[in-house]
Formats: sequence, C-alpha cells, structure tokens
Amino acid sequence: MRVRFAPSPTGYLHVGNARVALANALFARRHRAAFLLRIDDTDQERSRPEYEQAIQHDLRWLGLAWDESFRQSARLALYDAAADRLRGAGRLYPCFESEEELRFKRDMRLRRGLAPVYDRAMLKLTPEQRAQAEANGKTPYWRFKLSDATVEWTDLVLGRRGVKLPSVSDPVLVRADGTYLYTFTSVVDDIESAVTHVIRGEDHVTNTGIQLDIASALGANPTKFTFAHLPLLVDTDGAKLSKRLEGLSLRALRQDGVEPSAIVAYLARLGTSDSPEPMPLDALGETYDLTRVARSPARFDIRQLLALNRRVLKQATYEQVRERLPPAATPAFWNAVRGNLDLLSEARHWWDVVAGEVAPPVLEGEVAFLADALAHLPAEPWDEATWSSWTEALKAATGRKGRALFMPLRLALTGEDHGPELATLLPLIGRDRTATRLRLSAL
Ligand code: GLU
Repeated sequence: MRVRFAPSPTGYLHVGNARVALANALFARRHRAAFLLRIDDTDQERSRPEYEQAIQHDLRWLGLAWDESFRQSARLALYDAAADRLRGAGRLYPCFESEEELRFKRDMRLRRGLAPVYDRAMLKLTPEQRAQAEANGKTPYWRFKLSDATVEWTDLVLGRRGVKLPSVSDPVLVRADGTYLYTFTSVVDDIESAVTHVIRGEDHVTNTGIQLDIASALGANPTKFTFAHLPLLVDTDGAKLSKRLEGLSLRALRQDGVEPSAIVAYLARLGTSDSPEPMPLDALGETYDLTRVARSPARFDIRQLLALNRRVLKQATYEQVRERLPPAATPAFWNAVRGNLDLLSEARHWWDVVAGEVAPPVLEGEVAFLADALAHLPAEPWDEATWSSWTEALKAATGRKGRALFMPLRLALTGEDHGPELATLLPLIGRDRTATRLRLSAL
C-alpha cells in the first residue's frame, strides 16, 4: 500500500493540513504502507521554495517522517506525455474563451434556470476556426472532456459516494502558458507512483469524481484507488475554521509553545468519539482507524488542545524541555512548575518569579500581617518543609488560617493569585527575594 500527502507550497501548514498529513502517516504506520510527500508546486506564481521548506520543517517537528518525496515541477515530461495521450484520445480540447465570456455564459445559463456548467462550445471548433484564433494571437488552454457517467466509490470515511459528471464543467487541465493544473498532475502522479489510498480533505470530493474519470482516460484502473475524505474542520460555533487558520498554522502554534505531541494526539482523534491521549506516534498508529472518523464536520476546540498540552507538559522531563527553558533554569524549577503550564512559554514568567523580579501588588490592610510574615521567616537553608514551618509559626502568631493566611503570601511572593505549590517555589525563590517582596508589598 502507498499513501501520499500532497501539500501545495503556497502557504504555511495549518491544523487542517496537519490533520490530513497525520491521517496519511498513521494509516501508513498501521498498514506498513509507504508514505510519500509530494510537493504540488505546479502553480508557479503562488509556489515558493520557502513554503516548501517550512512544510518539511513542520512535518518533521510533528514527527511525521516520509519515505519518499518529490516535486511536481520536476516531472513535466511525464505530464506532457500524459496530456498528449489525452489529446490523442480526443479527451483534451483547446479553448479560447476569456474569463469574461465564460462569466457571461454562466450568468445567461443561471438566468435561464440552467446549471452553470460549461457548454462545451469549443468542442465544436473547426480546425479553421482554431487556426483563425491562433492567427489572431490567441493561445489555447485545454479542457478535459468528462464522460457522462456517474462516478461512484466507497469512501473509507464518507461511505458510498458519487459524482454526476454531467453536472460538472469540463475542467481546465492545461493553462494557456502550458503549465498544468493540480487536477491533472495529481492523477498522473497517483498512477505513476502507484498510490493505493488517497486520504485528503472533503473539499476534494468533486475532484475525486473528475480525477477518477481522468485516470480511466489515461488507461488506469480506477478501482485501484481507495479514497478517504476527512470532513472539514469547524470551530466551536460550527462556523468554518478557514478564517482563523492563519493563527492556527503550525508555526504559530510552535511559537506559542504548543507541543507537537499534543497537536498530534488531538488531531489523531478529532472527529472520532475517542478521547485523545498523548502517546508516541507508533502507539497512535497501532490503533488508528479511518472508519472511526465521523461523516459530519469535526469541531476544532483550541481549549481541548491546550488541555492536552497541559497534560503533555506535566509529563515532560527536564531533559525533554531544557533547551526551551531559560538557560539557568534547573530540574527543581521544572518540577515545581510543570504541572501549572498551559504553554511552555509560561515557564519564562515563573522563572522570573523564582529568579528575577516580580511586581508585587500593594496589599492594603495587610501591612501588619506582612510584617509578621517577615519576622517569622525561617533562617536558611530552605527546603520543601520550610513553607509549612513558616506558615505554622505565622498561624500561631496571627491566628489566621486558610485563604486569609496563604493568599497574601502568594500574592506578595509571586504577584499572582494562583500558580505552582508555594512549598516547592519558596526554596527556589530563596530568603532574600522573599524578604524583599514582603517588604515591597507592605509599602
Ligand atoms: N495539493 C492539493 C491540496 O493541497 C492536494 C490534494 C490531494 O491530496 O489530492 O489541496
């Protein structure tokens, strides 16, 4: 079995793309299939090498390794040969209509209550008319003549699906400048690289009907391909996620400090009724089953992703994160804070709390209490028992307990009303900083 992930290098990968990439990678693990990375760069105007590099970087970051990779722009001879074959079979025909003419024709059809399907006017073009158009300086672009079949397949996710080709316009496969469109190159490559399973987004369902027809015209057996279309992602209100996708690019999530294993765990279960569990890719692959993906749109909830991220960070060892912590951060620091982070980037703030400066709030009405707290500060050395001996002594001296006892201390020492256990933070903050902060809060 062979699968492929085929991004267009026209932008950065976002969670929607990553989900498709992951579905391919996990399917490949489960079935010991080869996983190809195909760079769909036939759109010369919009494709950029830096996007291609960014895509590879993002996939590696997620831990999704591919077995083979190629770029469509390196395979033009293959597409030329396939296009000639279609021309020879009378399935690729030259067209000269401008965008404007086509728009006009579409409007006319709509006004007459007809479906806005291309009328195939150019199929009736005589050799003389074509020669005339070319003599006038026009270069043709080429459309594929669809058959009049209803193309059907059994989709691993969507079940039995079909596309009625007569209600689809003949697609343009070759632009006037001779460059090819993805609709065509994808079929040529899927045949040539012996892809067996095409796993992609639901937005390609109509393409599947068209592409199976092209595959047949190229002499391939369309039943050799199995399709799985993943329903689109929507946000928690059910609206399309597309508007927000920029903020949900992998690079943005990486910059925000979201862990790749949280993203992988979340996307692997998105759209299924299984709850996501952080686990190694191999383990995810063992149980991965496309048929568990629901047919309805999947709700992408950033809060669930962050909750998973929290779990991943809680389990992470110092060694796993040390390079991304402030340089002087210690294992003791990591152990103190790791249960309290939604994002690793928040560790920086807690490092300031233990080793730098905080802006302690002025605690009105607490001057006397803070002075008591300062007076009862134990002598160093400090350890994890210091907090309880200090607060026991304070409790006895002031009669305070519970929140009234702890909250002013927490606020004075950390500047926050919540955070890691003070018992673990206190020895990291140390006596000098503690004393300074108590004094500052009492001002
Ligand atoms: N380049 C296409 C895209 O990014 C690939 C679709 C496919 O998997 O065939 O949408």
